[in-house]
Amino acid sequence: MFIQVCGAAREVTGSNYLVEVGRSRFLVDCGMHQGGQREEALNFAPFPYDPRDLDFVLLTHAHIDHSGRLPRLVKAGFSGPIYATPATRDLAEIMLLDSAYIQEMEAEWRSRKAKRAGRRAVEPLYTEEDARRAIRLLKTVAYDDPANLAPGVTVTFRDAGHILGSAFLALELEERGAKVRVLFSGDVGQPDQPIIRDPEIVEETDYLVMECTYGDRLHVDNGKPEDQLAAILEEAERTGGNVIIPAFAVGRTQELLYLLRDIFANRGLSMPVYVDSPLATRATEVFRKHRDVYDEEAGRLVGEPGGVFDFPQLRYTETAEESRALNDKRGIVIISASGMADAGRIRHHLKHNLWRPEAHIVIVGFQARNTLGRRLLDGDKRVRLFGEEIAVRAHIHEITGLSAHADQNQLLAWAAHFLPPKLTILTHGELSAALALQKLLEERLGFHVVIAEPEEVFEL
Ligand SMILES: [Zn+2]
Ligand SMILES: [Zn+2]
Repeated sequence: MFIQVCGAAREVTGSNYLVEVGRSRFLVDCGMHQGGQREEALNFAPFPYDPRDLDFVLLTHAHIDHSGRLPRLVKAGFSGPIYATPATRDLAEIMLLDSAYIQEMEAEWRSRKAKRAGRRAVEPLYTEEDARRAIRLLKTVAYDDPANLAPGVTVTFRDAGHILGSAFLALELEERGAKVRVLFSGDVGQPDQPIIRDPEIVEETDYLVMECTYGDRLHVDNGKPEDQLAAILEEAERTGGNVIIPAFAVGRTQELLYLLRDIFANRGLSMPVYVDSPLATRATEVFRKHRDVYDEEAGRLVGEPGGVFDFPQLRYTETAEESRALNDKRGIVIISASGMADAGRIRHHLKHNLWRPEAHIVIVGFQARNTLGRRLLDGDKRVRLFGEEIAVRAHIHEITGLSAHADQNQLLAWAAHFLPPKLTILTHGELSAALALQKLLEERLGFHVVIAEPEEVFEL
């Protein structure tokens, strides 16, 4: 029996593990490497295993850094089932199609450039058809229901509280009479997030494969997100300015709608709200469908008029014309993707609002280096958009309470429920984050912890 760490070793993206037990070989996650050119090139590298030899794949959650190479795996010959929770299945469907669209667009753009330079056309990482084939392989497994997937392999999906449908995988493996329990943490959620439940507590495992994205960081506490958001809306309502919110289409947008519904219902405020992202609109449909996995608070709203995400001020835009028509409106809220403002329709809305002193830009998620969102947070007074220089006169706000990831304290608190496992393997984090969490897990909890190296194999 062994686990091989094939991705997300000493980095956050590209989650991918190979597990071998007896005659079974399977993967946990098959995510995309994201970030710069070096990471993107890794997505095109051959897999360190033969996809045709795999029996199945287990998917922890729908985020692209966990699911994004599944279409490529299928293109390379994989044809077994991909197991996920029902909400993850539905989210993965829309996200993989969106990802395929981006891959094809990008290849087309690069091909045009290549041809002009007298070089060959560029192939996309995968196409929409590859994504559809991967989607057809998705099979659902309910939370907390042990599933025997192969001789000697039983898996239980348990709520990770990270995004809708996200799971820890508790594996019970058996080979020639020897039994071993392995727990893959997937991404561990932050407790008390809107809509979704808190991460489940697990107490026993022999091996713990644990993420450490925020292993060296604490979330800044600026008060409740709904209070911060309400204060911004109040100001905008008074001065007639627009409120522009770059937000990830899946998860963050639905949390914002949830908070806005509450603010409008209970604080006497009212502004038209536009969700300007077709992916976000589809993701909201998926959220609406999977109410059985909401937390208690959201669950109570299900039967109420308007439900969890709907309120009279809310509109969804679909076409590019509808999106452009928003340029002429004042006193509105626009939620649009991408979350770091480095692509998508949000860039048009920023171009039309950044220079207005009465406008408000609200940053609600992590902003990577070199993205437009980060530059705005850093206080840049001029930015370039569509080849035009734009002065930044709008108010820039940051709401920090909505992270989907547990921070250092929350990771430690979650791990503290375990009896010390035989071995804890840290993945899905930069080296500095892994080192900080390793030290704390060893000193405070008495764990034996290693930081996985790329391609490292662990015999169980
Ligand atoms: Zn994630
Ligand atoms: Zn992740």
